[in-house]
Amino acid sequence: MKAITLTSGKFDVSDIPDLQVAPNEVLLEPLAVGLDGTDVALLTGKWAAADGLVIGHEIAARVVKLDNENADLEIGELVSVEPHLYCGRCRNCCAGRPQLCSNKRTFGIHLNGGLCQRLVVPEKNCLSVGQLDDPIRIAMAEPLAVAIHALDVVPIPCAARVLIIGAGPIGLLIGSLVKSFPVTSLAIFDTNLSRRAGAGRLGAIVPDTSESIQSGAFDVVFDAVGRSETLELALGCIAPGGAIGALGVGGKQDFGRINLWELFAKEIKISGVRSGVHSQARALKMLPGLQLDLLGVTVYEASNVSQALADIAQCRVGKAIVALDQFFDP
Ligand SMILES: [Zn+2]
Repeated sequence: MKAITLTSGKFDVSDIPDLQVAPNEVLLEPLAVGLDGTDVALLTGKWAAADGLVIGHEIAARVVKLDNENADLEIGELVSVEPHLYCGRCRNCCAGRPQLCSNKRTFGIHLNGGLCQRLVVPEKNCLSVGQLDDPIRIAMAEPLAVAIHALDVVPIPCAARVLIIGAGPIGLLIGSLVKSFPVTSLAIFDTNLSRRAGAGRLGAIVPDTSESIQSGAFDVVFDAVGRSETLELALGCIAPGGAIGALGVGGKQDFGRINLWELFAKEIKISGVRSGVHSQARALKMLPGLQLDLLGVTVYEASNVSQALADIAQCRVGKAIVALDQFFDP
C-alpha cells in the first residue's frame, strides 16, 4: 500500500507492506490528519524518528474492515483515532495515569501514523464520532483532548484571571474552553503578530509585549510554548497561590530558571501537561460547537505535507490539517 514516509528530513510517497487485521483490530482508511509541533520536531530531528516513519497522530478515518463480529463499529463508519497505546501493567497505568505509561507508544511517532492508505489500530482506539460527518473537524479531536486535559490538570477557579502564553492551536483551544468558565479575564500572549490576531478574534485581551504583562497578576497561566523564556514569563506573572500548566513541547536539554524564594513565598504550583488521555471522547462531544474559523484551520492537500509543516514552523498557519481524499485511492 501507499504511504507518505519520512526519511532524513524528506517526505516521499512510498510502498509499504500491507497490513493484516488481527482479532479486536480495525482496518481504517485515514481521511484527514492534523499536524502539529510534534511533527515538526520529527521532521527536523529534534525528536528521533525511525527511517520511513509515517507521521500523523491526529487522525480521522473510515472503518474498512473489522475482525470481530461483536465490534461496536460498522464498516463505513467514521471514527476518531485515540493515538496512544498503553501497556496497562506499569506503575503509572495501574495508578490511572496511562499518559505516563513507561511503555507508551503512539501512532505517528513510534508507530506508523495516519498519512497512509490504510492503518490498523486496536478497536478500543477507535472512538465513535456520533453525528459528526466532517473528517477535518473530527481530526481536531486529539488536540482538543490535550486542551481538555490541561484543564483537568490545572482547574480554573471561579473568577480567575487567566493568561495563556502561545496563541498556536493548543493555546487557542485552551482559550476556547476557558471562555466558557466564569473567569474575571482571559489574556493570550504571543510574540507573533498573526497569532496575536487569532487571539484577538477569540475575544481575549492580547498584550503587545511581554513587558506589558503585569507581574503577579494571574491566578492561572498556561505555557503553551515550552521555552525557558516562556516559563520564566509564567513564573513572573503568576499571583500568590496560582497554578502554572506547562504544555509546550520543549527539548530534553531545555531548562528554565525558577526563583526558589517566589516558589516558596507564593506557594506556586507548576504542573506538566502531557497527552489528552481519557479526554478525547469528551472532545468529540464538544467538537460540534468548536469554531474552526476562529482557530485558523487551514486544509492542505496530501502532496503539500512539507509546506504544511514549514507553515507551522514559521507560524504562518493556525491549525494545519491534511485532507487525504482520494490521494491514495483516486
Ligand atoms: Zn503502562
